[in-house]
Formats: sequence, C-alpha cells, structure tokens
Amino acid sequence: MSLLISVERRKTVPVNVGGVTVGGSAPVVVQSMTNTDTADVASTLEQVKLLADAGSELVRVTVNHAAAAQAVPEIVARLRDEGYRTPIVGDFHYNGHLLLTEYPAAAAALAKLRINPGNVGTKRRDSNFTQIIRVALEHDKPVRIGVNWGSLDQRLLTELMDENAGRPEPKEAGTVLMDALVESALRSAELAEETGLAHDRIVLSTKVSSVRELVTVYRALALRSDYPLHLGLTEAGLGNKGIVATTAALAPLLLEGIGDTIRVSLTPRPGGDRAEEVRVAQQILQSLGIRSFEPQVISCPGCGRTTSTFFQEMAEDITSYIREMMPSWKTQYPGVETMDVAVMGCVVNGPGESRQANIGISLPGTFEEPKAPVYIDGEHTVTLKGVGLVDEFKTILLDYVQRTYGSTVPVEAAVD
Ligand code: SF4
Repeated sequence: MSLLISVERRKTVPVNVGGVTVGGSAPVVVQSMTNTDTADVASTLEQVKLLADAGSELVRVTVNHAAAAQAVPEIVARLRDEGYRTPIVGDFHYNGHLLLTEYPAAAAALAKLRINPGNVGTKRRDSNFTQIIRVALEHDKPVRIGVNWGSLDQRLLTELMDENAGRPEPKEAGTVLMDALVESALRSAELAEETGLAHDRIVLSTKVSSVRELVTVYRALALRSDYPLHLGLTEAGLGNKGIVATTAALAPLLLEGIGDTIRVSLTPRPGGDRAEEVRVAQQILQSLGIRSFEPQVISCPGCGRTTSTFFQEMAEDITSYIREMMPSWKTQYPGVETMDVAVMGCVVNGPGESRQANIGISLPGTFEEPKAPVYIDGEHTVTLKGVGLVDEFKTILLDYVQRTYGSTVPVEAAVD
C-alpha cells in the first residue's frame, strides 16, 4: 500500500544515449563505471556484464591511452554478441581529443563521450574541447560535460576570484568555487552548441565530494538550464560512509525533482563487488519512491521484546527468498518489484506495519502467545504457528505474487 507523494521532476530536454533516454519524462537512469584496465578486454567485458546484470542501465569505461581506445570496439562488439544492449560511455581526460581522432572506431562504438572541461589542456583548452565536440558531431554522439571540483578549470576559477575581489561586498571563496563549477559546465555547453552540437545532445554534471556543497551547486545548475543532470557525490568513500554520504547528498535533490541519471561513486574494498554501487543507486531511488527495482522487506530493528534471533533469521530468510525468486518473478509477474513485505518482531507495531504492507506477518515477541497473524492487503487472513511457520509464509507469499501480479487475462481480452 503506497502512501507516497509523487515527485515533480524538473523539466529537461531528453537526450538519447545509445537507446536509453536521459532526461525528459524518462525514469531516472542508474549508471556505473568499471575499474578495470580498459585495454584488458576480457576483464572489462566481465565487469560491464556484472554491472549490467545488477541493473546498470549505462556503463562508463575509462579511455585513457591508445590501447584502451583500441579495445573499446571489441568490448562493445563482444557485449552485443552476448546479447547485452547496455550503452557504453567513454570517459576522457587530457588526451581525449587525440584518442578520439586517432581511433575513430572507439568514437563510433561508444554511446556517449564524457568530457571534463578542467582536463582538456591549459594552453589549447578550447580547441581541444571543440575537437572532441567535432568528433561527437561526426559520429552523432551525445556528450556529458562533467565538471569536478578536483579538476576544475583553474583559469576560470581565477577569473571569477578576481572578479569577486573587485566587488564592494565579495562573496566567500567557497561560494565563488560553486559559481565556478556551474559556470564551467554552462560555458562549456555553450561552446559545444556554438561548435554545432544540438541542445539535446548534452548532459551536465558538477560533482563535488561534500554533501552540502553538492546540493547547493546542483540547485544552482538546475535553475540555469534545461540540460539533463547526472547526479553523483564524487569520491564518496568506502562502505557505510560512502553509502550514507551519497544518499544524504542525492536524496534532497531527487526529492526536488533534480537529477536525470545517478551514479554512486563508492570505493570498493580490495576484491570487493563493484556492482554494489548499482544496488545502492537502485535502493536510493526505491527508498525515495522514485523507481522500483525489487520488493522491499520492511522489518523492525527488534528490541527487548524479541530476545530470540528467530525474527532476525526470518527477515533475512524472506529477503534472500525474494532475491532468489526475482529473476523469474521479474519476467513472469510485472509490477512485483513494487511489493512491500513486512516481517515484524512483536505485537507493538507488528499488526499496524503488516497492514500497511502488501503482505505482512507479525511474529510473537517474548512472553506473547506463540502465534503469528498474517495480513494481506490490510486484512488479517490467517494465523500461523509452529516450526513450519517460515515455509508456510513463503507459500502464502508466492500465492500472493501469482494472484496479484500474474496475468490471468488473455492479452486480446485485456486489450478489449
Ligand atoms: S515491533 Fe516489537 S519487537 Fe519490533 S522494535 Fe517494535 S516493539 Fe520491538
């Protein structure tokens, strides 16, 4: 049962990125980036598939030297041979103008080119930038102008700092830095359009690693253009810190309707699972009620009323069961990803929370009568007890999924 208030998205121009729409009325796109050496075709291909299988709708690869540029067409070709349609985006710094000119097959294979205007050279900055734009035009590719405060165009920052120093009431240096990020993105977009790139071939980002600054800079950027925005807290960090900081930064913006595609920049542990950043991005969107990816298990934290671990084990068991079933449920039961399942520890909040969910069970707390009422669509339907309780609940859950999300009406009749 959803009590969500819909989010009104900021109006943006839709940009087609290799068949995936970013902006306009399209859903907020989840994207990620590989951390393999792109020149290593086999390991990059494996990681792109891992990210795509986890649900990444765009995957970016770094293109940092000749061997990486040469590998791109093969990676994309083999990906397509294996049935993956995920668009591959190229990330360029310093030498993008040279690589894209020398290796046109890489430009042709990529679905979008990411340019960092702070990293296109100092002396020939504008001509290097426009050289990349001309490649984009030649191959009909969109670009992301991705500004990052770690590599901000220093010439522009100096210009704005000087201008600010001459004001009767100068702004704080931090505010000028935010202005410079926005200016860098917008002036670069203007230059791209002057070079001939269409308005609907540009996505912007202005990433910083500080939560409050990120919110400030994206609000400012959103007010000044209708380009779709790629959101992300750059260099978010490891584990919980990275997840919490990214969520804290992206949530206020997404709830204001700002953001057309997101990337979660977690530092993986050595040998860790790169796809975690995809699952975190999906969970942010689902927790905010913006998109649904998999059924959500609502469970309470437990307290002194749940002195055994049974309730925790059951919550974990049901979560694993749903994950295991999702690959087939997703195709057989469209809409199942919006389902809420409550597994609650005792009578205090158990029945109430279970009634709010699509299906829920309220377990008996310590000293409560050993029985567990099950609620379906807000109604108490059955009470379970005894050792087989978890399996019985799974059977009821499966039956609910089949009845609620399974199409029992023939397509022709449904169309009528
Ligand atoms: S629902 Fe019951 S067991 Fe769970 S946290 Fe609340 S009081 Fe504790």
